[in-house]
Amino acid sequence: MSATRDYYEVLGVSRDADDAAIKKAFRRLARELHPDVNRHDPSAEDKFKQAAEAYEVLSDPERRATYDRYGHEGLRTGGYAPNFDTFGSVADIFEAFFGGGGFGGGFGGAFGGGRPGGAVQGGDVAVTAEISLADAAHGSSVEVSYEAVVACEHCRGNGAEPGTPIETCPRCQGSGQLRTVSRTPFGQMVRATVCDQCAGDGRVAREPCHVCRGRGRRVERPRVSVDVPAGIGDGQRIRIAGRGHAGERGGPSGDLYVLIRVREDSRFLRDGDDLITVVDVSAPLAALGTTVEVPTVDGQAELEIPAGTQPHDQLVVRGAGMPTLRGRRSGDLRVVVNVVTPRQLSRGQRELYERLADSMTDHNLRTDEGVFGKLRRAFGHH
Ligand SMILES: [Zn+2]
Ligand SMILES: [Zn+2]
Repeated sequence: MSATRDYYEVLGVSRDADDAAIKKAFRRLARELHPDVNRHDPSAEDKFKQAAEAYEVLSDPERRATYDRYGHEGLRTGGYAPNFDTFGSVADIFEAFFGGGGFGGGFGGAFGGGRPGGAVQGGDVAVTAEISLADAAHGSSVEVSYEAVVACEHCRGNGAEPGTPIETCPRCQGSGQLRTVSRTPFGQMVRATVCDQCAGDGRVAREPCHVCRGRGRRVERPRVSVDVPAGIGDGQRIRIAGRGHAGERGGPSGDLYVLIRVREDSRFLRDGDDLITVVDVSAPLAALGTTVEVPTVDGQAELEIPAGTQPHDQLVVRGAGMPTLRGRRSGDLRVVVNVVTPRQLSRGQRELYERLADSMTDHNLRTDEGVFGKLRRAFGHH
């Protein structure tokens, strides 16, 4: 809040304006600047508070005289600094100035919201569980442990030692709220705060439960076993109803959300329900055709590499990917063939390769693929 703007300017009145004119100017501004009718303008609340501050000073003859002679600085050193902050919210000031019913009947008074004594649902709890890819493939059960507020079982959540009465709070007479009434330049200001003796319940135990010291709730570290369905993906959440924080005053418990992280498996990339892996095959075997072992989530599978397999060709093991969450057919295992040219050759191998190279003709390499097809293949697009 800017304290440097001239108060007369803020209210839009002349320096010799009388009390009635000042009150009228503030009344007009307060209606105009109420944050509830200026939701599009985030500065409205600040402007309202500036106007209230200006009114607070100019409506008080002593303060106004000090301000007229010495300005803002004079108010501060004279102990007249606006104590706006002790008044509370815009709604409080509005209520005090315009009286009950407020502005068009639409603004909540000081007692809006926060009704004491009502049931409140407990908060949700979020935890993370890490599982392996194999567990994600087969489904598994993980145990998670977390801190949760639970109802005290000794007093069954009501905070009283069993067999002792629960009485109307003597401090707030059961309303759950304490009201203070103060005189301000804006009028009588009624403020309500939650009762500190009963925390808003309106009722207190004559003899508080010795286990939870009367709170009715305590913090526990429950362990919960969570069924993780087969096919779950990294970052998916499982909701377990009612395993969050206990509710208050008979309200239901919150929920537990388990965020599943699937550990990376260096052998696979996951693409939806498909798994992708790479297998090395030496150039002669790729030309001749062979059988290789490929990794699967469960172990190994045999895969036939047909004669004439090219670098980056993809072979598919149907159904060896991840199961789908909805129980339809599983994804596939896609095997990218990495044809490896031998880097080192023995003398004998070299002679064989030389004889092989001599025997090669265009016919051996013939392909229907154009140059763009070859480039796409080289960059891994199919
Ligand atoms: Zn208890
Ligand atoms: Zn109370």
